[in-house]
Amino acid sequence: MARRQLEKVRPTSADQDSADSLVKNLNIAVTNKPDSETWLEEPPKIYYASRTHSQLTQVVKELRNTQYHVRTCILGSREQMCLNKDVQSATSNTARSNLCRQKVSKRTCEYHTGLDRVKNDVVQNNKISDIEDLITYGEKMKACPYYLSRENHSRSDIVFLPYNYLIDSTSGNNQNIDLKNSVIIFDEAHNLESFCNEATSFEITSTDIAQSISEVDTCMKLSKELDYDGTYSVEEFTILKSVLLSLERKIDQTRSPSPQSSITKPGKFIYDIFKATKITFDNSEELLKILEEAIKLIILRMNY
Ligand code: SF4
Repeated sequence: MARRQLEKVRPTSADQDSADSLVKNLNIAVTNKPDSETWLEEPPKIYYASRTHSQLTQVVKELRNTQYHVRTCILGSREQMCLNKDVQSATSNTARSNLCRQKVSKRTCEYHTGLDRVKNDVVQNNKISDIEDLITYGEKMKACPYYLSRENHSRSDIVFLPYNYLIDSTSGNNQNIDLKNSVIIFDEAHNLESFCNEATSFEITSTDIAQSISEVDTCMKLSKELDYDGTYSVEEFTILKSVLLSLERKIDQTRSPSPQSSITKPGKFIYDIFKATKITFDNSEELLKILEEAIKLIILRMNY
């Protein structure tokens, strides 16, 4: 199909040679593609990634103006799609995800319980492919746009999504994206390098750590209460607190000489800090689980 399109627009001028070579390369790519047998049975899913949602919206709009009738979906975050007021007011993505999961498991989000009523309609008719449409539909039908877009995902031919769902492994995992036998298109790929830099950078201030320590104190208190039935006890939260205290000390020791100046260290430096504060590859997973539990406890307390 793409080859036919390309041949139609083939120029007749001096660009002929390069167009010929493009067609030739495309032919080679088409005839030599790996797993071509599998593709005949099940066409590959196309992931079209862009830096911003407004760019994706534009591409979706353009696609609608063509003759192609493909099943599409657009993936977004809870921050963009959630309709539940409690979850919308959460201050971070992690808090939003945890609160949403709690509501889903306790069946206390009306938009999630309303999904079954409409999801077959949305998925089978592939009516909606844009975030705005999905939100409008979700509001009207009292159905969660976030989970509707995920239903669409598994059955779509083209999935539109922001770069970070493919680049940042934590976002990707949340979306259950499996890239096997897929075609991936990065729109404006010259942005990728700076995007990867941002995706692997983070900012942490001594205030963040001080607040975390105070929240772990709260968790230690809450975990002693009789109705606490979580996985971790006060001992684990005490370990978490000592790790954070030692991280706070280490960061204090690496202050720049003056507020106007900064210091730059090689990448290994952060690993040395983690090692000195007893955060290692061996225990990081366990520490993350304790942190998740601490977040759940704090959210529970906010709800009472
Ligand atoms: S199920 Fe949907 S609407 Fe409900 S809290 Fe989660 S993301 Fe928000």
